[in-house]
Amino acid sequence: MDSEKNNSVPAQELELIGKYARKALTQEEVYTFSVILCDNEIDRDNEKFTVASLKTLAELFVGKTGIFDHNMSSKDQTARVYATRVVTDETRKTSDGEPYTYIEAKAYMVRTEKNKDLIAEIDAGIKKETSVGCAVKVTRCSVCGENVRSRGCEHQKGKQYGGKICCHLLEEPADAYEWSFVAVPAQKNAGVIKSFSPEAHTAANESWAEEYRTELKSALIRDAATVMPEMRGETLEAICRELSIERLKDMRDAFRKKAEKKLSFIRQLDANCDTETESNSEYKI
Ligand SMILES: [Zn+2]
Repeated sequence: MDSEKNNSVPAQELELIGKYARKALTQEEVYTFSVILCDNEIDRDNEKFTVASLKTLAELFVGKTGIFDHNMSSKDQTARVYATRVVTDETRKTSDGEPYTYIEAKAYMVRTEKNKDLIAEIDAGIKKETSVGCAVKVTRCSVCGENVRSRGCEHQKGKQYGGKICCHLLEEPADAYEWSFVAVPAQKNAGVIKSFSPEAHTAANESWAEEYRTELKSALIRDAATVMPEMRGETLEAICRELSIERLKDMRDAFRKKAEKKLSFIRQLDANCDTETESNSEYKI
């Protein structure tokens, strides 16, 4: 991630940012930086985005909110994407031999007293890892090309077939939710959060159902941290274990709606340059 060196935002970019802010912002009020949102490298789940998916996702991520360390309880800890582009680095290859391709996003924050430290961390390159939340319609086996969610196939991701690693190709992104900076990339929430349609999970596809369940759970817990920061993670985990996939999905949707409402409220506060109330800061985690 590179912050803009000379700290001045070109007029053209201020105009783009102006589409999202509730009031006109000056160069001094705005902090901008670039971040790699996702790429076509095989991830730790042995899944990867195709270049076509990255192109669609790049469009879907414009306007989306970024959060820091999955903590949305503070209004000062969010940034927003105002421009994206897909970049191919021909000098670098992915582990399956494709030219390395990534989504570079430009994001902005409104400078406040409270996000001074965070901005310093971004400047220093400390906040490096990002994860994205999105939904894809199709997951395809890289070996046989079968749609593994609707049909399934005999290949196991992560295993070698004829000298090539099998991975699942994430295709046809339907939506992008938000993106975040993660302190520890190996943590459970890090990586891509993919949404699956539960109808596609037949009995023959048990392991997918289990994965879907895990993804629903982490999305739910993340959104719950926004709307109910005082609720303990272990309590939520325990509740999630008792719920069916359908109920989990209902709850995930409900929390997402709430979280989005809260975020848009936060944006309004940002735009109005309101000060945070004491009661709000009590709920920070
Ligand atoms: Zn296959």
